[in-house]
Amino acid sequence: MDTLIALVIAALVTAFFLRGYLKNLKKRDERARAAAEKGKLFSEGPRSQHPHIDNAQCIGCATCTTVCPEGDVLAMVGGKAAIVNGYKCIGHGLCAEACPVGAIQMVMASPSVGADMPFMTAEHETSIQNLFIAGELGGLALIKNAVNHGRECVDTISARLDENRPATPGLHDVLIIGAGPAGISASLRAIENRLSYVTLEQDEVGGTVAKYPRQKLVMTSPVEFPMYGKFKKTELSKENLLAFWDMVLNRADFNVRTGEKVENITKGADGLFTVNTLNNSYRARAVVLALGRTGTPRKLGVEGEDLAKVMYRLIEADHYVNKRILVVGGGDSAVEAAMGLASQVGNQVTLSYRKEQFSRIKERNAKRIDECWRNGKINVAFNSIPVKIREDSVTLEVGGQLRELPNDYVWIFAGGTPPYDFLKKIGVQFGMRDLTAEAGRERNTDQNQLAHAAR
Ligand SMILES: Cc1cc2nc3c(=O)[nH]c(=O)nc-3n(C[C@H](O)[C@H](O)[C@H](O)COP(=O)(O)OP(=O)(O)OC[C@H]3O[C@@H](n4cnc5c(N)ncnc54)[C@H](O)[C@@H]3O)c2cc1C
Repeated sequence: MDTLIALVIAALVTAFFLRGYLKNLKKRDERARAAAEKGKLFSEGPRSQHPHIDNAQCIGCATCTTVCPEGDVLAMVGGKAAIVNGYKCIGHGLCAEACPVGAIQMVMASPSVGADMPFMTAEHETSIQNLFIAGELGGLALIKNAVNHGRECVDTISARLDENRPATPGLHDVLIIGAGPAGISASLRAIENRLSYVTLEQDEVGGTVAKYPRQKLVMTSPVEFPMYGKFKKTELSKENLLAFWDMVLNRADFNVRTGEKVENITKGADGLFTVNTLNNSYRARAVVLALGRTGTPRKLGVEGEDLAKVMYRLIEADHYVNKRILVVGGGDSAVEAAMGLASQVGNQVTLSYRKEQFSRIKERNAKRIDECWRNGKINVAFNSIPVKIREDSVTLEVGGQLRELPNDYVWIFAGGTPPYDFLKKIGVQFGMRDLTAEAGRERNTDQNQLAHAAR
């Protein structure tokens, strides 16, 4: 009798929890469908490498939906993982790593999609022999990819160099252009491999990372960092990452020339490269282009845009108080800058966006900007474009009407132009590259390296 009662109780408890579990599952599914609908409405799709989910293999465990540092990129729909907010994905690939059945592959595009991109071999060499592309310029985002590419390019160059080559004054083994993570890694590998090199940077060391907002949390993966070894941190602030690079670069006596924008590269009949900046000319046996994709901010072409008060990046919002400010753009950078500036004493901030609503910003930013707008901290002007900028004012066209606003500073966040015109000018061949498997290949290389390092 006792056993029967125990069995009934156990059955009731199981049924209770099962009911709760199924209810929870249904709610999660409903939430995901809502997110998917919203994603469809707002999303412009993934912007770089992103997960491809094989539905036939997905067992619906939802592990992938819990590990993404960018939030709700993935959700469970109909018991299977699905991309619901593709535009938020920057390609960390943790979902693919977490999937217990290998149902997720990182891809650059949907199957069979190609894009007009610089032609590159598996060694990152362009159509011009000994001219390499490292990092995001080649199409793959993320710091770990940039570090891996930079190192690999220099290893290929080292292997090709004749050990008995003469040391010719003014001729470098390799010229590295750009000092973001790809250029830093390439430079350190050049030092490690005892090559003569110089690194040219138009701006400051650190590349895109140096331009992240203050205290931004950077997510990365363990990576083999030249002149240091395995860098194991996976989460750290932008400042700490830059300080780490600075420490390794100082120790290695980094040979960088900042303020040197490369304007042209030519290759002579002798196979040597001449690299021209505005004021200097350099010669090298090989070149690594580590220019990134966002080096040159996109301009609006508005009258007065060349005034010194117009800027394209905001790093320290607290330098600006009691100012009349216009921020232009509708992405996370614009919204975050507007909110940062509006929180400083006495600033009057207007955010101008050409569309009728924000369409590709993080949920958290959408809520916060809405709150700032409602409580009058920021004036949001949808359907508006700046048409003229003067020393003390800006003119916006809002829904066909001109409106002049008193103004001290303008920030424009209209994205960056990938330096493809520059690549074409120097003779790099472009073509339709099948992007489907490229990010997957990169991930496998990473995993092989980790396995190798663990041995
Ligand atoms: C807001 C934001 C957040 C991100 N968060 C993360 C994250 O958490 N984790 C992560 O892994 N990745 C993140 N990324 C992506 C990551 O920052 C990039 O993938 C990475 O910086 C690419 O490195 P890179 O060296 O290829 O190019 P970049 O970092 O862009 O560096 C290129 C350098 O080349 C220089 N340059 C360009 N043209 C010339 C020229 N003609 N002459 C001389 N110098 C030139 C530029 O000034 C720049 O310093 C984020 C990106 C953004 C925009």
